[in-house]
Amino acid sequence: MIATIKAEQLEAMGVLLDATQSLRTEVTVGVSGRHLHVCQEHVEILFGKGHSLTPIRGLSQPGQFACEEQVNLRSAKGEIQNVRVLGPVRPETQVELSLTDTFRLKLDVSVPVRMSGKTEGSPGLTLVGPAGEVELERGVIIAQRHIHMTPEDAAAFGLTDKQMVAVACGDARQVVFGNVVVRVSNEYSLDFHIDTDEANAAGVKTGDKGYLVRPTLSYQLPITNLLG
Ligand SMILES: [Zn+2]
Repeated sequence: MIATIKAEQLEAMGVLLDATQSLRTEVTVGVSGRHLHVCQEHVEILFGKGHSLTPIRGLSQPGQFACEEQVNLRSAKGEIQNVRVLGPVRPETQVELSLTDTFRLKLDVSVPVRMSGKTEGSPGLTLVGPAGEVELERGVIIAQRHIHMTPEDAAAFGLTDKQMVAVACGDARQVVFGNVVVRVSNEYSLDFHIDTDEANAAGVKTGDKGYLVRPTLSYQLPITNLLG
């Protein structure tokens, strides 16, 4: 069942519609489970010399894919097994967890909410693969919620890159997510990315619909550390 929001509810929430209703508001929800991106050096330590990642299915963003390869995440006080690697390889290894996952690992340092690639000051952990282990010094983050879109989508929404918006989704447990970062690139396709904690809070899943709502004052608080 697709979670939907009724027109009256949208109106009550001050949905981002102009007088002519010419701006689009609907986005598709994409839920990201815990995963990691790996550099080639770490691929070879974890899975063997000369190993290259094995794609099993494409993801919503063009060129991105889920891999057959999985690793275990180990901290001093906990472990999470069988965490999926996403490809292609990246310059730096990065682990994306939900807040709930970080509680399971009982990490000593709190894990920051970050956009992908912003790993400065984040904690590390141990990656355990079939061929070897990697002691990651940093790179564990909780992903900042965001919407990928093309320049054409951005124009249709009346939005620009790095703008903060709010998105309402869910049915019985409807949530308005503030601090959603707009990411605009020709490489992207339209998708509202949240993690499993966020999805569960709103009772939504991949493929459900979300709606851009007009940010109120509370959504416009400065959050300098997210985009920096
Ligand atoms: Zn994303």
